[in-house]
Amino acid sequence: MPDIIHMLPESVANQIAAGEVVQRPASVVKELMENAIDAGATSISLLVKDAGKTSIQVIDNGDGMSETDARMCFERHATSKIKKSEDLFHIMTKGFRGEALASIAAVAQVELKTKRKGATLGSRIDIEGSRLRKQEEEQCSEGTNFLVKNLFFNVPARRYFLKSDPIEFRHIVDEFQRVVLTHPDNEFTLIHNGSEIFRLYKSSRRQRIVNVFGNRYNEKLVPVEENTDIVRVEGFIGKPESSRKTRGEQFFFVNNRFIRSTYLHHAIMGAFDGLLPSGNFPLYLLYLTIDPEQIDINIHPTKTEIKFRDERAIYAILHAAVKRALGKHNISPTLDFEQERGIQLTVPTSSTEIKQPVIRVNPEFNPFGTHQEKKESPLAGWFNQRERSTEGWKELLEINRRIDVQRPEEHRSDIVESDQLPKKPEWDEDAIPFQIFRKYLMVEVEKGLLLVDQQRAHRRVLFERYSRQLETGKGLIQQILFPEEIEISPVQFIALSGIQKEILSLGFDLILTDSNKVTVRGIPADVGSVTAGKLLDEFIEQYNNESALHLDKRSSLAWAMAISTSVKYGQMLTLPEMQELLKLLFACHQPYFSANNKPTMITLGSSMLDQQFL
Ligand code: ADP
Ligand code: MG
Repeated sequence: MPDIIHMLPESVANQIAAGEVVQRPASVVKELMENAIDAGATSISLLVKDAGKTSIQVIDNGDGMSETDARMCFERHATSKIKKSEDLFHIMTKGFRGEALASIAAVAQVELKTKRKGATLGSRIDIEGSRLRKQEEEQCSEGTNFLVKNLFFNVPARRYFLKSDPIEFRHIVDEFQRVVLTHPDNEFTLIHNGSEIFRLYKSSRRQRIVNVFGNRYNEKLVPVEENTDIVRVEGFIGKPESSRKTRGEQFFFVNNRFIRSTYLHHAIMGAFDGLLPSGNFPLYLLYLTIDPEQIDINIHPTKTEIKFRDERAIYAILHAAVKRALGKHNISPTLDFEQERGIQLTVPTSSTEIKQPVIRVNPEFNPFGTHQEKKESPLAGWFNQRERSTEGWKELLEINRRIDVQRPEEHRSDIVESDQLPKKPEWDEDAIPFQIFRKYLMVEVEKGLLLVDQQRAHRRVLFERYSRQLETGKGLIQQILFPEEIEISPVQFIALSGIQKEILSLGFDLILTDSNKVTVRGIPADVGSVTAGKLLDEFIEQYNNESALHLDKRSSLAWAMAISTSVKYGQMLTLPEMQELLKLLFACHQPYFSANNKPTMITLGSSMLDQQFL
């Protein structure tokens, strides 16, 4: 048999390797911006067309490259940042693997113009799918200008898997933000399809954060500062009342590099223990400075995960630093927020005594329950036990209960529109429901006891209502007597601009004024007494989060609106409210599941109950 193993051509090898580094347009943005920072640029412009699918351009005023370097930079493992393996433990630059440009050039058409400081002429290089197309001298400004066109032009499968423009652009903004938040001393601009999204001038770190997320953030930020021999921790945490159900405002930077760490995230969550409504995430931007010898950055191709030599110490320091910041700013809840929608904070005055946050008792804790029971209601735990011990119990339930293993934000399946559901329980509209645990409604039905999850039920009702409104284009607006002007973040502004027509159908009467401002003239009828700003803010955040989860636009909007305006757990309902909710639920097209495919109700059959008393 002949030998069959051969070396792959370099362009193919590069294309394979590119898969690790370049997953989407945002990956290109990250790499090019990081290179510009490493080249000492103080001003960086990012210009993007069609969410980066058509082109991504990064222009910097950094060191530039010589003619030879300009050619060399596209070679794999070509870098100016390290020389020997020991250097791996002294890294202060963003890049060091020397593979980003080789990877990008393997899967796109790249034009590079670069000139070193003081040089009379610069160089231009065109490279396409790893093949050099042009190399010549060129008159250009000092610094470097990379234009990356038609990403994945030669890998149709990768191009096919790219998401819609809004989603890809969101990823780009995420990467852009991670870089600009670490370098407040630098100037940045981001221009998308000709319109300016961000123009950021040199500023303090706090000001940069506010410029990125919007002015309202100024009052939310609580400074954190802790200096130890192992690590220096600086930055900000958000006050607990600014926490959100959606993630995306949690940032760790280690030696000016954005990293992800579920372990360290846990340390922060622990420090906030008892201060956040359940399921909420606090805002944090924490900048850690650590001796590079104490970390290993070289464990992930995109370098967003790192290893700490003494992870437990960092954990403890972070935990303590955040706790201390919370204590110092006298942030501790005065009310049990399971009972109220918002949480109230004591307002510090100069005479207030500074207290460490205290641990609150979980009102749902059941000393006789198992670990899982604590999270759900004691009833749910009880059922779980029956599930283990009683054969054939399932048929006693009219609806198969699906056990929640993940929160909806983390895992969303598509909307259930199944016709194979059991028929509705015979329910007397005058029956008197009870509310238990401020979470479930309990009512007698012909076949037994019906338990309805108040939050999910209401979301189902609202989801269907808002879906209808979006379909017909008719929404009920409650006009506001004194229109409110609200400042939103650039990202929220982009999101709103993309849904102006739909948002009117949902009942919002808005005028987008100059960038990042919106005047609210009307809000949807029936949303109760929320303030327009809070409602709009929650809605856009939910929508931004939802639309990333592949639901179609209309469903994302309806669902985001349902989440923002629904009754929540912990809310006490009056008898007429409970009756109304049940009535509306049963009038739904699909009452059994909330729009995120979680059951809204279960029925405990009378025979099942009888069995318990044997
Ligand atoms: P790495 O950043 O890991 O070194 P890259 O492939 O991203 O690898 O870049 C290769 C080299 O090209 C860098 O080490 C640097 O010397 C040079 N380079 C890349 N981008 C720029 C830039 N914007 N300005 C100056 N030099 C650059
Ligand atoms: Mg690089």
